[in-house]
Amino acid sequence: MFEKNLSRRGFVTGAAAVAGLAGLSAVAPGLAGADPKIGDQHVESEFAPAVGAQAALITFQKIDGTPVYYWRSNRGNTTARNWQATQAFYDALVTWIRDLRSLSSSYGSISYIVSAGFYVDKDGQHGAGTAMDLDHVRWSGGNTISPLDQAHASGTAATRKRYLATEAVCRRRFRYVLDGWYNADHHDHIHSDFGGMPVRVLKDSEADTKFVQATCNNFRAAGLDIDGIWGPKTQSAFDGLKSALAVSGDPHTTTSVWQGMLSKIATKGFANQNI
Ligand SMILES: [Zn+2]
Repeated sequence: MFEKNLSRRGFVTGAAAVAGLAGLSAVAPGLAGADPKIGDQHVESEFAPAVGAQAALITFQKIDGTPVYYWRSNRGNTTARNWQATQAFYDALVTWIRDLRSLSSSYGSISYIVSAGFYVDKDGQHGAGTAMDLDHVRWSGGNTISPLDQAHASGTAATRKRYLATEAVCRRRFRYVLDGWYNADHHDHIHSDFGGMPVRVLKDSEADTKFVQATCNNFRAAGLDIDGIWGPKTQSAFDGLKSALAVSGDPHTTTSVWQGMLSKIATKGFANQNI
């Protein structure tokens, strides 16, 4: 697979050479393709082929100063690891983690995050270096959220709210966000990528609709089927959510309106409050 990638995308050659020169090839998950099952390719993004697939990759061990670890082969490992993504995607990750710090500031600072992959040697957004699989977040105050441990299906309501809060922050900066409700492939990580931008909430998106349904259920006991179909009950629940959060404007068409609504959901979720 590695040779195939080299022949398909010459830009990797330079990055591989840099990693090799630095003696870091043993910790280059992107180049090695961490786990072919991780770093999924998924239906929604297949309709939105990655743009700029030939863009060069950069290598990073931290996002805006926060370490990014890899636990898929060694749970709890805190060894620095070389990840890869495009510069543009890394820049989006910086805005994402700054949002996360700000919205979860009552938890203290973010000690580290854990990922299953960014650039991965495969087709789609991961292959373009424009995707992230988020496994875990740890705050300095001791709180964690662990999609890796299927926090979306936790028996503890506060944990499910925290999962949705974390996902809401992802959705502020990424359009295609796939979670544990979306499908079985995402039961253990939250996927975010550059497909389908700009950010907004779409009624014909299964992933968006499931996020809305899960949010209405977990914050407002809406009792919806999380089926990804935006029907009258989901519309009514969404209207109630929007009203309770005092959101004006159209989150289906206006990025800033949806981002503001997501911030309010995240704030409630990190505070373990109903809406
Ligand atoms: Zn993914």
